[in-house]
Amino acid sequence: MSSSSVRKRLQEATPGPWEKEEDSPAITGPVGAARDDRMIIYDEGGHSEEDADLIAHAPTDLALALDVIEIAAELHETQRHVGDPCPLCIALAAFETAP
Ligand SMILES: [Zn+2]
Repeated sequence: MSSSSVRKRLQEATPGPWEKEEDSPAITGPVGAARDDRMIIYDEGGHSEEDADLIAHAPTDLALALDVIEIAAELHETQRHVGDPCPLCIALAAFETAP
């Protein structure tokens, strides 16, 4: 995985914002779009309102997290390490090699 591949998936997905419908496990987006132009995810199993809230916020949260990762990686490129990699190097390597 790389930040560019994650960004590509975000750009190709239904645009946000998405929202969890009030008192319902349904998630729709983009907010304000005509019904025929919205993505609607409905959990018939009724697993949890928290799952719906997580999914509805995922695109926005992921985009913000990608911004932080890319800025951290860019700022960290100028660091020179002697010896073991630092925790940020390890975290960035784990992100880049994740499936
Ligand atoms: Zn480092």
